[in-house]
Amino acid sequence: MALLDKLTQEKCPICSETLTTDKSNSLLSHIVKSCPNEHYEKEFIPALEGYIEHYMVPKK
Ligand SMILES: [Zn+2]
Repeated sequence: MALLDKLTQEKCPICSETLTTDKSNSLLSHIVKSCPNEHYEKEFIPALEGYIEHYMVPKK
């Protein structure tokens, strides 16, 4: 699936690691991409045809 290939190549805006899609649920077309270092998470919401981004701010 070309769209998914494109999505999996995205990088964390903080550390530039390639985002992983381990949390995705392909049955629901629910794609969650996250930084392996837990900086950042991006969720694709099919119903909205858009993304929700989460930045994980390190706790002090
Ligand atoms: Zn990161």
